[in-house]
Amino acid sequence: MLKISKRLQTIADFVTPDGRAADIGSDHAMLPVYLLQTRRVASAIAGELNQGPYEAACKQAADAGLTYKLSVRRGDGLSVLQPGETDTITIAGMGGALMSEILEAGFQTGKLEGVSELVLQPNVGEDLVRSWLLKRGWYLQAEAILEEDGKIYEVLHAIKLKAEEGNDSLKTLQLKLYDSSFLPISLNADQGKALLLQMGPHLLRQPSEVLAEKWRLELDKLEKICAQLSLSDQPQAEEKKAAFREQINKIEEVLRCLPMDKPSFN
Ligand code: SAM
Repeated sequence: MLKISKRLQTIADFVTPDGRAADIGSDHAMLPVYLLQTRRVASAIAGELNQGPYEAACKQAADAGLTYKLSVRRGDGLSVLQPGETDTITIAGMGGALMSEILEAGFQTGKLEGVSELVLQPNVGEDLVRSWLLKRGWYLQAEAILEEDGKIYEVLHAIKLKAEEGNDSLKTLQLKLYDSSFLPISLNADQGKALLLQMGPHLLRQPSEVLAEKWRLELDKLEKICAQLSLSDQPQAEEKKAAFREQINKIEEVLRCLPMDKPSFN
């Protein structure tokens, strides 16, 4: 049995058992091989854009004796899928901007039809992925955050509500999810929503030391940007610095009041 990282294990744990999974940007196909070996899914597809990782995925499938259950395909994003061919799509280990582009291209070409869940692990730009999910009517059902080998990762689990559950209930759920009134700081609705998109609506409702650590590190980065902008003589530098400073203040305020032992949101 393949040994996988804590990051990939967290993704695997979100995959609904007994369905079909497609892992896009699969590289060595570690995740789909693991999902098949543990009989979590019945069949899987590994999609990969680049030749080297594609060959590594083919080899992994062959070495595991799983070529009859794991279809390894070379291509860009969701283009390797036929509509209705998978229940779960996992995408991990790339930036949120690329991930959102892949999802949007898949949506535009009907490749998301019939897909019931997405398990996404952007390395950066998680806010872009949450915004895409919100825009395209995917409900962010759960989030996880973990630290491994000195890096912090977020995993997002989104589901498609069934037609009979209706658009109204989706709208209500989304409004509730991105309602920041549980945070004891003063924000208008738009500011609150932006903050939850940035920091994670579930992560903020179930705060952990890893979440606090992530945002302490992000604050360090933002402070460095501000220091550099102070040295700049570009005309927009002051304006940019003020925007970053406002962000820093909001994040610091949130960190100060994180309700560390609040019950989870449902
Ligand atoms: N998903 C694996 C993981 O999380 O361990 C591998 C992550 S690896 C850093 C990202 C992979 O995505 C690379 O193998 C890269 O070739 C592939 N990739 C990048 N853009 C892609 C695209 N548009 N479609 C499919 N694969 C892509």
